[in-house]
Amino acid sequence: MRPVVVPFFISHLGCPHRCVFCDQEKISGSRAALPDTQAIQEKIEAFRASAPGRQLEVAFYGGSFTALAQEQQVQLLGTLQPYLAAGTVSSLRISTRPDAVDHAAVSLLERMGVGTVELGVQSMNDEVLQLSGRGHASQDSEQALATLKGRGFRVGVQLMPGLPGDTLENSLTSLKRVLQFAPSFLRIYPTLVVEGTELAELYRRGSYRPLPLDEAVAWCKELLKLARRAGVPVVRLGLQPTEELETPGTILAGPFHPAFGQLVESELCCDLMASLLEETAPGSEVSFRCTPGRISDLVGQRRRNLERLTELFAVRILKVTEDAALDREVIALDGPKGVRLGSLADWEPGGETPAAPAFVNVGHCHVGRGV
Ligand code: SF4
Repeated sequence: MRPVVVPFFISHLGCPHRCVFCDQEKISGSRAALPDTQAIQEKIEAFRASAPGRQLEVAFYGGSFTALAQEQQVQLLGTLQPYLAAGTVSSLRISTRPDAVDHAAVSLLERMGVGTVELGVQSMNDEVLQLSGRGHASQDSEQALATLKGRGFRVGVQLMPGLPGDTLENSLTSLKRVLQFAPSFLRIYPTLVVEGTELAELYRRGSYRPLPLDEAVAWCKELLKLARRAGVPVVRLGLQPTEELETPGTILAGPFHPAFGQLVESELCCDLMASLLEETAPGSEVSFRCTPGRISDLVGQRRRNLERLTELFAVRILKVTEDAALDREVIALDGPKGVRLGSLADWEPGGETPAAPAFVNVGHCHVGRGV
């Protein structure tokens, strides 16, 4: 079972400046403040009481942890040492910027038992980084990734498609460069225009155009395919909706959707279903099967996928059902020619269709609810 995360948001603390798109206080809904020893202890105890028996992971998000003064890092991590020693807290996680990762910073994290570092890479294109006011180059990210991986950390990478100057090709190249370092996981946040940021001013002046929602979904679909093929999990697609973020006026523009990740998964499923239907004669009756929990991805929001496929292929889709015997990434089509299988995991990135799946007779074993 995954540990319960005890989050501390240290919004912007340690950051040498504001990147043009960033307002952590609005994104996380938390004000910038370093928690003192008492605040840390109280929060851990509260989480222990609400999740008895569960392992806890303490995480510092929203700032540049390794760019804090060393005494501050030692104070925060030092408070956690007794909990780590007692096993009350099983792991520690921090997030930081790539140019704040050097051997001294990493040695301190190592000594203090930090296991996971999340790096705000955002892009590996130097022009995009410069236009976004990041204050570092892609080489800093490469060095940080190499250092952290070389020292045995679990490394998560955050990417932001749609920053100023970005293109789909740039985003895919960024991801490919990051994947060379075999990160443990990815978070992908399409760029939003948050009120009060420099990006908001650029947007108002007409110097920045955010990705429309459908374009952001299409880009992220390609990124997701690439990550899946590399076997790197994408643990988050799109910002987590918060009260602050959903307050009218916080997001000026951009592809915000409370279920953004599901939109992307659903598009990916629709592409694969279309590919499976390619050799099906018009007028045929077909059904789809997927692993439990995936039906809504196949059906799409407001049955959009089923309607699109019905129209495109002139077929009658009888049902979509769960099949616990299928692998997590596999979709099965039951059609007039038998069963056709396709996998979301081995899709050619950038292509319109997946690698042609073979016809395999696996029988018809509908399980669970239909639609
Ligand atoms: S993107 Fe990261 S480094 Fe830039 S201002 Fe935000 S928290 Fe700080």
